[in-house]
Amino acid sequence: MKIGFIGLGNMGAPMARNLVAAGHDVSGFDVVAPIPDGVTDCKSGAEAAKDADVVITMLPDGAILRRVADEVVPAMKPGAILLDCSTVDVESARAVAGQAEAAGLRALDAPVSGGIGGAEAGTLTFMIGGSDDAFDDAKPLFDTMGQKAVHCGPSGNGQAAKICNNMILGVTMIGTCEAFALADKLGLDRQAMFDVVSTSSGYSWTMNAYCPAPGIGPMSPADNGYAPGFAAELMLKDLRLSQQAAEAADADTPMGRRAAELYTDFVEDEDGRGKDFSAMLPRFEKRGRAD
Ligand code: NAD
Repeated sequence: MKIGFIGLGNMGAPMARNLVAAGHDVSGFDVVAPIPDGVTDCKSGAEAAKDADVVITMLPDGAILRRVADEVVPAMKPGAILLDCSTVDVESARAVAGQAEAAGLRALDAPVSGGIGGAEAGTLTFMIGGSDDAFDDAKPLFDTMGQKAVHCGPSGNGQAAKICNNMILGVTMIGTCEAFALADKLGLDRQAMFDVVSTSSGYSWTMNAYCPAPGIGPMSPADNGYAPGFAAELMLKDLRLSQQAAEAADADTPMGRRAAELYTDFVEDEDGRGKDFSAMLPRFEKRGRAD
C-alpha cells in the first residue's frame, strides 16, 4: 500500500520501519524527528498524505491531531483512510473522524498498547473505532505493526477502550504498591507476599507480570532502577483523558479520579517524572499516614 506517516517519534519511527520492511511504500513527515531509513522524506504533512491509500498519524495529543487533520484531510484522495494511532481524547477522535468522513474519506481511531518495545517488535495491540470496511482494509497494516487488533465499534471507541484499560492499570498499580508498603510495615516478606497474592484473589497484571518490587516476580522496570517501561507522565496523560471522558459522559469514577490525583502529585511535585509508573512503590515506602 501507499502510506503517509505523520509523527515519527518514539512510537511512529519503529512502526514506519516495520511497514517499510513489509514492502509498503511509506512517505513520512515530522516537525522534529529524523525520517527513518526507507521512508520518503516529505516537507509537509500534506505532501506525505497526497496519493496515500492510508495516512497514519502518531502524535502527542488531540489538539495536535486536530491541527494535522486540518492540513492533511483536504490533501487526501477520496476513499483513503485516515488512521490515527495516537492516544487522544474521545472527543477529538470523533471530531476528526467526522471531518474526514465529511470530506469523502474514511477514518479509524486505533490507539495502541505495548509501548516502544511492542512498536519495535511489531507486537502492538490495536483497539479500533470506525467502520467495518475501513477496519477490513487496514487489517493487513495492523497485522504488520502488531499482534492483535480488536474492532471496538464506531469512531472513538478505540480511544474509549484504551483509556478504560489504562484507568484500571493505574488504579491497580497504586493498589499493588500501597499493599506492598503496608506489608513491609507489618513485617511481611515481599517474596511471601508475592507468592500468596499472585496465586490468590488479589492477583493482577501489575502484581503477576509487572511486579513493582525489585527482585520479586518476573523481570520488570523495578529490576532496572525504575527506568521506563511506561513512564509515570504517560500514565498521568491517560488518567487525565479518562477523567475528561468521565466528566463528559457523567460517569462516576472515584478510583480513577484519585489515581489521576496521585500521579499528578508524583509527576509534578515529587520525583516521579522520567520514572516508570511502578516507582509508586518507593514513593509509598517513604510515607506515613500523616504525609
Ligand atoms: P513522541 O513525542 O516521541 O512522538 C510524537 C512525534 O510527533 C514527535 O516526533 C513530534 O515531533 C511529532 N509531531 C508533533 N507535532 C507534529 C506535527 N504537527 N506534524 C508532524 N509531526 C508532529 O511520542 P510517542 O512516545 O511516539 O507517542 C506517540 C503517541 O502514542 C502518543 O499519543 C502517546 O500517548 C501514544 N503512546 C505512547 C506509548 C509509549 O510507550 N511511548 C505507548 C502507547 C501509546
